[in-house]
Amino acid sequence: MIRAELGVSTIYDLLLLTPSRYVDKRTLSPISAVKLENSLVQIAGTLSNIRLIPQSKGFRLSAELTDESGQLELVWFKGHQYIQKQLKENQRVRVFGKVNRFQDRFSIVHPEISPLGDQPLTSYSGDIEPIYALPEKLQKAGISQRLYRGILQSIVKAKDFWLTETLPTYLIEEHRFASKTEALRRIHCPENLEQTQSALDRLKFEELFYMQLGLLMKKQHRKQAVKGRKFDTVGDLFLQYYQKALPFELTEAQKRVMREIRNDMGSGLQMNRLLQGDVGSGKTMIALLSCLIAIGNQSQSCLVAPTEILAQQHFEDLSKQLTPLGLTVRLLTGSSTKKERNSIHEMLLDGSLHLLIGTHAVFEDQVVFANLGLAIIDEQHRFGVAQRSRLWRKSQLPPHILVMTATPIPRTLAMSVYGDLDISVIDELPPGRTPIITSHRNDGARLKVFAFLKEQIALGRQVYVVYPLIKESEALDYKDLMDGYESISREFPSPQYAISILHGQMSAEAKNYEMRQFEKGVTQIMVATTVIEVGVNVPNSTVMVIESAERFGLAQLHQLRGRVGRGAHQSYCILMTKAQLSEEAMVRMSSMVKHSSGFELSEIDLRLRGPGDIMGTQQSGSLQLKFADLIDDSVLLSTVRKRVQQLLEEDPEFKNPAHQCLIKPLKMMLKGKILWSYIS
Ligand code: ADP
Ligand code: MG
Repeated sequence: MIRAELGVSTIYDLLLLTPSRYVDKRTLSPISAVKLENSLVQIAGTLSNIRLIPQSKGFRLSAELTDESGQLELVWFKGHQYIQKQLKENQRVRVFGKVNRFQDRFSIVHPEISPLGDQPLTSYSGDIEPIYALPEKLQKAGISQRLYRGILQSIVKAKDFWLTETLPTYLIEEHRFASKTEALRRIHCPENLEQTQSALDRLKFEELFYMQLGLLMKKQHRKQAVKGRKFDTVGDLFLQYYQKALPFELTEAQKRVMREIRNDMGSGLQMNRLLQGDVGSGKTMIALLSCLIAIGNQSQSCLVAPTEILAQQHFEDLSKQLTPLGLTVRLLTGSSTKKERNSIHEMLLDGSLHLLIGTHAVFEDQVVFANLGLAIIDEQHRFGVAQRSRLWRKSQLPPHILVMTATPIPRTLAMSVYGDLDISVIDELPPGRTPIITSHRNDGARLKVFAFLKEQIALGRQVYVVYPLIKESEALDYKDLMDGYESISREFPSPQYAISILHGQMSAEAKNYEMRQFEKGVTQIMVATTVIEVGVNVPNSTVMVIESAERFGLAQLHQLRGRVGRGAHQSYCILMTKAQLSEEAMVRMSSMVKHSSGFELSEIDLRLRGPGDIMGTQQSGSLQLKFADLIDDSVLLSTVRKRVQQLLEEDPEFKNPAHQCLIKPLKMMLKGKILWSYIS
């Protein structure tokens, strides 16, 4: 029963189910001191006047409890018969419970009662009692807090209770931790709350320590086991482009990331790097330069994007720059014709195709490279792990992998979920960007917003109006979009204005056409659903209006905002919502108005939603921490990670006797007892 309900299989597991809180029953209060409603108190005295009192419905059982200082009523609304049998007039009892106040009288409803016998009150000394979160089923089966606590306490109080130490002695000394045995004793049998807290701190440290150890060992192992292509030089292509054709100077952050990638590619080990950079931070240039290194080292590259529009844009952007260097670039998407596909397959095999850009179509089995040296995946969170690993199998030596994401993941999450990847961060925007001005308006301000759009269009700018599209209510959303389109058409009549519309139910061809009209400036207004969320680049557009903004998450709002502010002109993001918002939605809106950095927003998002929600179920295994909390313990996590890195550098094979104690728990963990999940 215990086993099934608590999901534990050994006594050790049971010991690790720590109390959800503690109640302090060490001292007795005089009844006269009971004054605070809802506080938990422990008092003692003599019972009198035990009787049933009629009420509007049925009876209540009542008893007076008296000590030298005063008197208070004890009340039961249920279980009268059973309780009444246990209460005796003039009996001395100890009482614990929550203080209730009715008019000017204090009482305790359904108190916990223990007989006191003849024990003098002055000599009373009680305990701090752990309270466990017991599943209802166990409670119904008669396993009460008292019984459960009793079982655990008898285990940890046993003379021969001893657990193998799981942390190296020097760490225990450094942090002044209790031993494992002592820590668990203090948790289930607390003497004082400070000690119990420090015991919990130890378990927290240990949990993060093993999580990082697992991740970093996996990373180390992969580096040793998986050989990678060694690109000895950056190559002439790279140099030629970098020195003669680079359209702008790289930011310091871009230069740093390029050095990191260059080092990886030259190391002889496979690169497995996650590149995080805010919208507009210039990730495409990193992709291009990395491809040049790969191609310059006689291998092919591919770049995979999550949508056709984005793949198309990358294709245009990159082929414009690479074709003058004599390189061949092709586009492969779901709407490529059979003829195109065939010619792409051929060119991939004979090696004449240098860079293939595409959507998930690139993952298909028929797509085979002669020599794939680098695979870049843009907007990582849209692709699953399984899809990504299919790229690996496309060549004998696995290609270097660069995953790029514009949805920054909070540092603590990155360290716990992607802890076995190398991470590069572009934390700097190209110079000369004017920050986007974000405002929050409700429907009452609609006319003013329209007037503002007209002003911007008169200045020659273009605007987006975006509607939510959420799978569950697709039909409704679609109606919202069409209603919106109509009202905008009325407000912005042709021929003075031209409007494009873009949504998921259109054919790829129609989407492309509308996108093109907007890009060329033929249309000034783009009414769209979130299909444009990722990557669309029209530098002349300066206003992003987000309708029903309260229905979008922070990451999505930030992505959408990133569609403007791409050119030289001051840009604006207007969040339209209804007037009455939930508190959480208010925080989202005000955070958007206040913060422009995706990294800051991702931290706020983590606080609002919690780690499991952000990463989805796929990675939630590694986020189910028992003791630590990725938000509250982020500083500890960084410290622990550094410590583990140092340990693995100094003693990768645990030869140091102090590290012997790590081997067994690690084996248990890696055997799948604790499931950390990994990417690729
Ligand atoms: P993202 O990281 O969102 O993919 P892009 O690669 O699309 O960003 O870059 C956004 C814009 O910034 C592009 O127009 C690009 O040409 C420009 N850009 C990138 N790096 C620099 C730089 N170092 N200096 C000036 N402009 C840059
Ligand atoms: Mg991009």
